[in-house]
Amino acid sequence: MATDRAHMKSLTILGSTGSIGASTLDVVRRSPHAYRVYALVAGRNVEVLASQIVEFSPKVAVVATSEALARLSLQLTEIGLPKSQWPDLAWGNAAQIDAATAPEADTLVSAIVGIAGLEATYEAACCGKRIGLANKEVLVSGGELVMRAVEEHRAELLPIDSEHNGVHQCLRAGNRGEVTRLILTASGGPFRNSPREALTHVTPEQALNHPTWRMGNRITIDSATLMNKGFEVIEACWLFGFAPSQVDVVVHPQSTVHAMIEYSDGSVLAQISATDMRMPIQYALTYPDRCEAPVPKIDWSEARRWEFEPPDLQRFPLLKLAYQCQEIGGSATCTLNAADEVAVEAFLQGRIGFLAIDQVVQETLARVPARSLRAVHEILETDRESRGVARQLVAARSAAGAVTA
Ligand code: NDP
Repeated sequence: MATDRAHMKSLTILGSTGSIGASTLDVVRRSPHAYRVYALVAGRNVEVLASQIVEFSPKVAVVATSEALARLSLQLTEIGLPKSQWPDLAWGNAAQIDAATAPEADTLVSAIVGIAGLEATYEAACCGKRIGLANKEVLVSGGELVMRAVEEHRAELLPIDSEHNGVHQCLRAGNRGEVTRLILTASGGPFRNSPREALTHVTPEQALNHPTWRMGNRITIDSATLMNKGFEVIEACWLFGFAPSQVDVVVHPQSTVHAMIEYSDGSVLAQISATDMRMPIQYALTYPDRCEAPVPKIDWSEARRWEFEPPDLQRFPLLKLAYQCQEIGGSATCTLNAADEVAVEAFLQGRIGFLAIDQVVQETLARVPARSLRAVHEILETDRESRGVARQLVAARSAAGAVTA
């Protein structure tokens, strides 16, 4: 057993209480001989975190605030976990970074939503860790810096986002220099066939009703606006070293083909699998090996129809904007992410309408000039400034009662 333990992967999971975090822990649960959990990092959901602590016995547990830490202690006491079995408890950014960079953990699963996950992921890259990257905002906000850290410190960045995971798999079939194009698929979201006028009165409940994936709120709304696909284009450029003009998006409502790559001879390879994030998560943990994964296999005996169509950039302008921001470079994509995060939150709170999301994002970009970002603190400063501008724009719209426009 001692030898087995030496071969186990030791994980820090950023965002353990979220959708990707829960799927990661299910992969761990099903292969207890392969993984142990060193640290669980969450935000405020202490009920779920406490039950994860009981089940997975991490050495460290981190929450976002001191208030959440007090609630976590209370929760652990109430469920009767003996103090001797408590992990070390901590809160805040520094504790998050410690958990991500600790020598006891060889692998980081980066699945906090938003820019809150940037610093710890960057620092883990500087320590040369293997990183399973779900948090796309890390590369959207700080792609240049993070990729430089990965290269300089020989970290391993394995994409968990299903499209990039698909690209990663397809790229194993040939030489990178022979690849001419990446094609990312998009489900098209719940409003794929809705005319733009019909989107004026969309409610958060309708926008959260994604046709093929169950995910956290932010990414689900971003899928409805196609902002998520725009982020994925940016992420793909950084991960695989492509220009935006070499990355195509195609709407594929069945979400079964996740990505394709085109080689110079015109041959196209596709990655196909069920819509279940446990497959790409496990891939990121076991690469270069593959293991049995707890996901349904494709049943080829059933007749299937898979559709592909181009995205409508007039109805979903945020996708086009993402291409433009990546072309501009520097801080433009950081501002894009910050403004979108603020606008999505305001939409979910009923303060602005669905169509106002892209207006707030576009106006924020017009007001925050792009600059180059050389350090994490500069990214965070730009993020703060962009959020400030986006919040003012939201406040002005809510004050004007423009909830549906
Ligand atoms: P969820 O909203 O389900 O989960 C977000 C996680 O982040 C929660 O654990 C939350 O903690 C934690 N969190 C939020 N803010 C903080 C903070 N300040 N400090 C520490 N933890 C924090 O999101 P998803 O799991 O859906 O997505 C996570 C990331 O993965 C996103 O970047 C998303 O774009 C990406 N992704 C997700 C996919 C999916 O299928 N879900 C697919 C591909 C990419 P708590 O709940 O405790 O507050």
